[in-house]
Amino acid sequence: MTMKRSTKIVATLGPASSSPERLAELVAAGIDVVRLNFSHGTAEDHQKRIAILRDVAHKAGRTVGRIGKFAAGPVTIKAGQSFILDAKCALGDEGRVGLDYPELIEDVVAGDVLLLDDGRTVFDIERIQGSEIHCRNRHDGELSNNKGINKQGGGLSAPALTPKDMADIKTAASLNVDFVAVSFPKSGADMRQARQLLRDAGSDALVIAKIERVEAVQNLEDILHATDGIMVARGDLAVEVGDAAVPALQKRMIRMAREYNRFSITATQMMESMIASPVPTRAEVSDVANAVLDGTDAVMLSAETASGAYPVQAVEAMARVCFEAEKSQTVTLDTHFLDQVFTRIDQSISMAAIFTAFHLKVKAIATLTESGSTTLWMSRLNSGVPIYALTPRIRTRYRVSIYRDVYPLLTEYIATDRDELLWQAEEILIGAGAVEPGDLIVLTIGEPIGQAGGTNTMKIVKVGEHRRPKSAPR
Ligand code: PGA
Ligand code: MN
Repeated sequence: MTMKRSTKIVATLGPASSSPERLAELVAAGIDVVRLNFSHGTAEDHQKRIAILRDVAHKAGRTVGRIGKFAAGPVTIKAGQSFILDAKCALGDEGRVGLDYPELIEDVVAGDVLLLDDGRTVFDIERIQGSEIHCRNRHDGELSNNKGINKQGGGLSAPALTPKDMADIKTAASLNVDFVAVSFPKSGADMRQARQLLRDAGSDALVIAKIERVEAVQNLEDILHATDGIMVARGDLAVEVGDAAVPALQKRMIRMAREYNRFSITATQMMESMIASPVPTRAEVSDVANAVLDGTDAVMLSAETASGAYPVQAVEAMARVCFEAEKSQTVTLDTHFLDQVFTRIDQSISMAAIFTAFHLKVKAIATLTESGSTTLWMSRLNSGVPIYALTPRIRTRYRVSIYRDVYPLLTEYIATDRDELLWQAEEILIGAGAVEPGDLIVLTIGEPIGQAGGTNTMKIVKVGEHRRPKSAPR
């Protein structure tokens, strides 16, 4: 890929994007991270996709309340028609459907409004009777398997992690995913629980909080403390807080994520019309561009790549729009960090590197990193300089691929001799087309070389000054 794009693209996989040929096309079109949606598909489906796509990172998520399945596929329901949500119903039909979250009955009263399928179906609750919630449907429409349920105004008591979520977390751990997105968390405690379950299952995956409940917006700081990243999950969020409130919340959430040293993904309906059309609408183009200007790390595609007719075109369009929006943004180094107190040496070096890179207008920052944390700190500030993560760890390579402005470069080895290391770093950067002899770069390393330990050194290097050391392998 010749185009240097800072914002990353997350693509949800589904039937429209599972063949090896199609996956290769999607990668070529510019996806950085793939998403496996555990609300759809079996563990074997996901396993298969992962097997095909081993070298791309991924994440998984699931919602809280969902209706069950229908015996004979989607049903049509007319405006004014009554419909029953029945906790005891196994397979649905024209008049009723089951619930994967039977406790819903305790959370609602007559007069409440339920929104299904991201608000496409609106039910007014008329009465509750045993295991049944009797509803009246507002608009003509269709209802199909496993659609999500929200209560208007929020307030569902459902635990963030249902028994299925817990099982899904174990599956995700066994699939060795890099990120797990938790649906419907209400608090930091929910995120800590998810992380603990992952660790217990032997996974070191990063956790992402999908912000899609009223409570999550209220507890955003608490959640940010406990998570690695957030997703602006606009589908369910709009249902809970009202669609008009979402754009301002998106800006606030992206800004706060950066301040808390967390990454953010902006999701849902970004290129919605491309499910059925080869070109996006003007409004969609503006939406993606605005998310880029808000400072999001990544933008996400859902049905566009999972089941749409133009998955590759959707990724290409998104990549093109991100690239163009990034060009138009004015780079001014955020000054809030000047007032901050740093207690960690590696974080201080990261800030020094970004400050220097910005003022000296260097071509690239190269950071030799084990965990990727230096690149996360650096990428929280907008310096306009690409950050290359040179790492021998495959895990770190996948992890940093979602951070804005960060480009992982896997190295087979990291030299233990200082001269050899500096030479090696230049070779890797030149080989990747990132720099040319004569360019200035900022390099961060941990000294003494060859000892495990944190980054403590920043060096400004003119590319081409280092000779191949005799010790370097050919
Ligand atoms: P979902 O989450 O696609 O899992 O529902 C995203 C959203 O709610 O916007
Ligand atoms: Mn959702």
